[in-house]
Amino acid sequence: MKRFFRGLLCGIVLTVLVAGIGLYGFFNFTAQNDVQTKIFAPVLSPEVHPGLEALSAGFERSFEEVMPGIYLATGYGLANVVVIDAPDGLVMVDTLEGIEAAEGLLPEIRALRKQTGKDVTDIIYTHNHGDHVFGSGVFTSDQQTPVRIWAHENTANRVHDVVGVLRPILFLRSMRQFGSFLSEEDLINVGIGPFLLVNENSRVYFKEPTQIIEDKVVHLQIAGENLVIRQAEGETPDQLMLYLTDRDVLLPADNYYHAFPNLYAIRGTPYRDVLAWVDSIDGMIGLNASAMIPQHSQPVFGAAAIKTQLTDYRDAIQFVHDQTVRGINKGLMPNDIAGGLKLPPHLAAAPYLQEFYGRVDWASRAIFSGYLGWFSGDPKDLLPLSSKREAALMIELAGGREQLKQRIAEAMQRDEPQWALVLATHLRTSGDPDAAEMQALALIALGEREISATGRNYFLTSAAEARGFVIPQPKTWLTPQESLVGIPIHSYLELLQVSLKAEEVLDIEVAYCFNFSEPAEQYTMRIRRGVAVLQSGLAADCIGTLNAPTATFKAIAAKAINPAMALASGALTIEGGVTRFVKFMVNFEKRP
Ligand SMILES: [Zn+2]
Repeated sequence: MKRFFRGLLCGIVLTVLVAGIGLYGFFNFTAQNDVQTKIFAPVLSPEVHPGLEALSAGFERSFEEVMPGIYLATGYGLANVVVIDAPDGLVMVDTLEGIEAAEGLLPEIRALRKQTGKDVTDIIYTHNHGDHVFGSGVFTSDQQTPVRIWAHENTANRVHDVVGVLRPILFLRSMRQFGSFLSEEDLINVGIGPFLLVNENSRVYFKEPTQIIEDKVVHLQIAGENLVIRQAEGETPDQLMLYLTDRDVLLPADNYYHAFPNLYAIRGTPYRDVLAWVDSIDGMIGLNASAMIPQHSQPVFGAAAIKTQLTDYRDAIQFVHDQTVRGINKGLMPNDIAGGLKLPPHLAAAPYLQEFYGRVDWASRAIFSGYLGWFSGDPKDLLPLSSKREAALMIELAGGREQLKQRIAEAMQRDEPQWALVLATHLRTSGDPDAAEMQALALIALGEREISATGRNYFLTSAAEARGFVIPQPKTWLTPQESLVGIPIHSYLELLQVSLKAEEVLDIEVAYCFNFSEPAEQYTMRIRRGVAVLQSGLAADCIGTLNAPTATFKAIAAKAINPAMALASGALTIEGGVTRFVKFMVNFEKRP
């Protein structure tokens, strides 16, 4: 028997629904009316690594014709945008990190359209990272001419993954890495750009690729411009390198920028295949291009300079890889390999290999775990104690909390903030009220001397958090609906699986049906004693069924539509009763 709730729903039922499904992040009823002013962590007034401070000069906002017919936008966001004045249109390479950043650049693009009498006909995404793709809708919707969007075959899927199961933690750690909530005084830069224009109020506007690069190497004409596009795994597996044949210009994407490469990103990334990265750079060297325009930092002119810099770059990566593996095979521990690794002097001195972004030691650790996983090989690491137990034993070893505090003060006095941080973290784990401030002071001391912008930003943001600052989660409902089109509907249900309150359903077996239309897709979510299993099709034993068009469901999930309204209007219907639906949904944790 089917029961459809349309406009007839009484207030009481709505209230129950709102209260119930509001518990789960999909259907969250926080205020979604106004954009608030950006929140900043308090100023920490730290010192700055001199190299990092000097770096900022290269990130000034500018839109320049860097060579005939090639325009470079820097300083509008984290990444550069390259615009090629091609015979039959303007070709944009990358689109910044969101609507705000893209709107900052839009007047320049409009002026260029006017000046050249051409519209943007093509956009090329060099890879999936947000700072390259999330502003695209701003440029495509500003003109009548349709825009072709070129991308690697895997780029769209990887963009969709960004909103996937790891979004809460990746957002949090990215905000630390990019220092997005640091005050203007504290945020010097982000190593390969001035800032990442992303915060809790940011909106992204992603346009799905329309032209897919499936082959390793393709020679083609885009807007009358001859170019070679090569799949060039490196910073990401979906990286595209471009070579403008008639101009002899290389666009290396993010496989080259003026900083030690981010072989590992501390915001949290899977292993990056560093040898594939080396191969990709070797491919670039072989082109012998006379100009190179990266998607971060400044262009390089002259075949000899480009060859030297690319050669040093690939050598630095290979060196870190090979010497790490050498240490691994000797049975050395990750800390000792990473700590002992120094680039050869000629590479360490190169201005384009300074550790403003990636760091050699972080790269080495990533290579270790990329090959061998989390276990160091030392049996003492096989069954580590919980943080709580270890903290208690450390305090005992120190002779009590007061003695541990004394040790922390001494460590700070003799300028060992890393050790002070370790001890203060144990103290904090034990619940001591003085610990947070001790942690904050150690974190600030580490941030002040840190050469890597990402490291500095992470330390300082963490210091602000120790002092009580809370990083706000993004207001996803601000995102235009169009950006959600490509996200597969099942990935929303996968979010449920990783939010199951397993400890509360160890004895429960219950199934709920999800029946989507436009396009038709049917799923059953079955809770089976601690695991939520996603099955395709509608099972006969579902206790209820949610019916909705996919677009409506996605809009509700993004908090763009109020579910109670969708229910009242009939866009969303719930068979089997709202109470059962709510009872099913409360088994899942609310996501931020
Ligand atoms: Zn980038």
